[in-house]
Amino acid sequence: MSIATTNPATGEVLKTYDAMSPDQVDAAIAGADRGFAELRGTSIAQRGRWLTAAADLLDAERADIARTMTTEMGKTYASAQAEAAKCATACRFYAERAERFLADEPADAAAVKATRAFVRYQPIGPVLAVMPWNFPLWQVVRFAAPALMAGNTGLLKHASNVPQTALWLEELFRRAGFPEGAFTTLLVGSDAVERILGDPRVRAATLTGSEAAGRSIASVAGRNLKKTVLELGGSDPFVVMPSADLDRAAEVATTARCQNNGQSCIAAKRFIVHTDVFDAFAERFVAHMSALTVGDPMDAGTDVGPLASERGRDEVAAQVRDAVDRGARLLCGGEVPDRAGWWYPPTVVTDLTPQMRMWGEEVFGPAAGLYRVASYDEAVEVANGTSFGLGANAWTRDPAEQERFATDLDAGNVFVNGMTTSYPELPFGGVRNSGYGRELSALGMREFCNVKTVWVG
Ligand code: NDP
Repeated sequence: MSIATTNPATGEVLKTYDAMSPDQVDAAIAGADRGFAELRGTSIAQRGRWLTAAADLLDAERADIARTMTTEMGKTYASAQAEAAKCATACRFYAERAERFLADEPADAAAVKATRAFVRYQPIGPVLAVMPWNFPLWQVVRFAAPALMAGNTGLLKHASNVPQTALWLEELFRRAGFPEGAFTTLLVGSDAVERILGDPRVRAATLTGSEAAGRSIASVAGRNLKKTVLELGGSDPFVVMPSADLDRAAEVATTARCQNNGQSCIAAKRFIVHTDVFDAFAERFVAHMSALTVGDPMDAGTDVGPLASERGRDEVAAQVRDAVDRGARLLCGGEVPDRAGWWYPPTVVTDLTPQMRMWGEEVFGPAAGLYRVASYDEAVEVANGTSFGLGANAWTRDPAEQERFATDLDAGNVFVNGMTTSYPELPFGGVRNSGYGRELSALGMREFCNVKTVWVG
């Protein structure tokens, strides 16, 4: 894949970049290694001042970086601005909390026959971050903020379609005051990752992206005995039970499916509705989905912009066509419009069967599957019936059911009466083919720390 900015709203290639040569990559890794030696020697308070400066820059330049994101991957300008604001919040969160998250943790010294015993969290070195285009700032910052605060350095291999955002991020941390080599963007294709991860100076990797990329990076890391955190795809269920607030559920379902033009790992993708309220929910949901405004992502009135790439749009269209060809029913959408750029309308499909691609695959665009179930048990069975396990939503006002869903849904995140959202305060990650490891909270910061046991006799 060439490294280029292509406007998904028009299909126009705006800027292309040459990939860095192996020598340039080596120099960048050497820089990250030197940067690590320097950064680990700085105080947490100093790193916190730099990260707060990064938050201030994110706020001050929000409009400009949001425009770049919208131009590179088609998200609405409003959502791009919200993403930049969220990044600033996460930077401040880690700047303020790192001291506490990294403090020595005393253990029961007497029980281990010591005078003193404790756990100390220490940085491990340069970490490779392979990141996707869908939240081109947030995915990177939620790795970078805790990693830099812990004293690690970052090497970013961003998706090939968001090079301007990637270069802006490198500049962001440099301008905020972090030392040379603390955070470096590598303009390379995915074919360069194996060599980078094989370099002994690179200590670990984090990936947010597809299952295929996860398998590839995990196998390279495994051969090199390096730790990975993988945040992969999802096909999140959104279960609606008879006691749910249907008006609210249908409204949130629409946002949960179509935010970011439907391209979010934690988007709700399968709407699993109890038969007692199926028709009432379906009517509301389809009405909301049909009413969304599809158009220029820079316009304030637009709800859904183009998909980020032609390949991605064609994939969604093929998944929906496959379902319809095999007997599923379209309740709205489903037609690729005849215009330049990579558009796909908000779509609802029902009467799905396990033979259809939409049943088990992730649909990375604004197309929802609607499933009718007859009981709690069937709802859980369908909800857990894919290979994924990232987020899950359950809508019910019955406290006993809320408890049961929290336990029974196979997912890294369960949200009851609300949509799955990532917060710096809460751990984020998946189970099964959605990956492993956690980002955000104190856990995310410690993923790339040496959890060192210290025993003093
Ligand atoms: P990819 O997983 O292909 O891309 C994500 C990142 O991984 C990019 O930086 C990409 O680089 C890199 N990459 C891809 N393959 C490899 C590899 N074999 N080794 C090392 N790095 C690799 O996602 P796509 O953009 O192709 O989207 C495909 C599907 O992935 C989506 O339809 C969706 O299902 C899922 N996805 C999930 C995301 C999430 O948030 N969990 C985010 C994005 C996608 P390059 O751009 O150079 O190819």
